[in-house]
Amino acid sequence: MTQTADIVIIGSGVGGASLAHSLAPSGLRIVILERGERLKDTPEARDDVAIFQKGFYRSSEEWLGTDGESFLPGNYYYVGGNSKFFRGGHVSLPS
Ligand SMILES: Cc1cc2nc3c(=O)[nH]c(=O)nc-3n(C[C@H](O)[C@H](O)[C@H](O)COP(=O)(O)OP(=O)(O)OC[C@H]3O[C@@H](n4cnc5c(N)ncnc54)[C@H](O)[C@@H]3O)c2cc1C
Repeated sequence: MTQTADIVIIGSGVGGASLAHSLAPSGLRIVILERGERLKDTPEARDDVAIFQKGFYRSSEEWLGTDGESFLPGNYYYVGGNSKFFRGGHVSLPS
């Protein structure tokens, strides 16, 4: 089956999701392609130690720096992207 779209957005993080939201009223056919799965509601998904200290969901892929050395970028590949993981833990709201 062939499907068509006017706009294809790669990635469902805050960038892709915001773009899709902004363009939705245009009536254009928008598709978001996301490489990751939806995060399942498991105990680890609600555990900051599992997520940030144990890296339960963190990708183990390595990137190559401009100095030629490989490093772990610490990316998360799930629906919502890195935005989903970092939006709560690092934001301080005024009391
Ligand atoms: C370790 C770390 C700590 C951070 N800490 C903070 C912080 O404290 N405060 C803060 O404001 N920001 C922080 N950031 C930055 C913040 O997470 C990003 O600025 C923001 O999430 C970027 O949003 P985005 O939509 O551009 O990308 P992302 O949220 O990363 O979304 C990209 C999406 O694209 C998907 N994708 C990637 N490749 C493909 C492909 N080939 N095909 C389909 N889908 C693909 C990914 O799976 C992901 O869902 C941090 C980032 C990292 C890595």
